Amino acid sequence: MSRVYNFSAGPAVLPEEVLKEVAAEMLDCNGTGMSVLEMSHRSPAFQAIIDEAEKDLRELMNIPDNYRVLFLQGGASLQFAMIPMNLMKNGVADYIVTGQWAKKAYEEAKKYGKANKIASSEDETFSYIPDCSDLPISEDADYVYICENNTIYGTKYKTLPNTKGKILVSDVSSCFLSEPVDVSKYGIIYGGVQKNVGPAGMVIAIVREDLITDDVLPGTPTMMKYKIHDDNGSMYNTPNCFNIYVCGKVFKWLKNMGGLEVMKQRNEEKAKILYDFLDESKLFRGTVRKEDRSLMNVPFVTGDKDLDAKFVKEAKAAGFENLKGHRSVGGMRASIYNAMPIEGVKALVEFMKKFEEENL
Ligand SMILES: *Cc1c(COP(=O)(O)O)cnc(C)c1O
Repeated sequence: MSRVYNFSAGPAVLPEEVLKEVAAEMLDCNGTGMSVLEMSHRSPAFQAIIDEAEKDLRELMNIPDNYRVLFLQGGASLQFAMIPMNLMKNGVADYIVTGQWAKKAYEEAKKYGKANKIASSEDETFSYIPDCSDLPISEDADYVYICENNTIYGTKYKTLPNTKGKILVSDVSSCFLSEPVDVSKYGIIYGGVQKNVGPAGMVIAIVREDLITDDVLPGTPTMMKYKIHDDNGSMYNTPNCFNIYVCGKVFKWLKNMGGLEVMKQRNEEKAKILYDFLDESKLFRGTVRKEDRSLMNVPFVTGDKDLDAKFVKEAKAAGFENLKGHRSVGGMRASIYNAMPIEGVKALVEFMKKFEEENL
């Protein structure tokens, strides 16, 4: 068996320790004589798994008591509809469009009410985060929506927008648990877990408790109400049991690593190695404004499509997988999530240096 360095944007690399534990427990999970895959979600054994996962997440993120943690299905994309259905009391919301995911959320919200695009960076291929210090926030906006780390373009908000008192809703799919956050600044902070936390097919939504009500848009399906999931401890129907179990193990791994402050330092260190190289390289260059660079997703190009393709091909042969950029932007992208070891980034930079020497 040989593991590659996997730079996929998602589903993505998971901590090897976690994968080994999952493998070891595949026939007998916690002395039950069965796999978690075979376990009733109503069993005390599974209840212990989900309770422990929530407890560890609360500890890691320092989640205040007036926030609920929901383990939901439908990925991050279902939240694009669920958020307006549950929050649009006035039928108005403001969207800051900084990439494809924010744009999709904005387009979806239009189906349910008046969604206003109050800022965008589309004019420069989403290569920067707009100034959000004094935006024309709508007086009757039910919330202001952002995508905090733009997975495809590699930008990240370094300061949250001034929402002028309105509720902030944030998609943190690709920066979830990469650094400490102040949960109390958000109404909803949510993320699909397959980027930086666990397997595909689940989203964790951390929702301020006063936003969870029966006052939703008419016709909202039962499964789309935060309240039904909250009232039932994320088990109104059968949850994604395996995913909750793996995420729980990742939370333990993060705690053992020293928590989110330590992860932030590690992530900064890793990203610096790659960005410093890009800044001095004569062949490669980063594609986004320096102040807005993501610690998680690092897009870069040579400026020559054929050379980009050659790089991706040779990198793959050398054991660096999934470096091709998103189909909408081309070039390359290295996603260097929590579980990517620093050795992986150093090895990638060494490989890039060698490629540069051979191709300049
Ligand atoms: C991947 C991604 C999504 C979509 O996630 P799904 O789980 O596939 O619906 C949404 N937002 C961001 C920021 C993402 O990176």
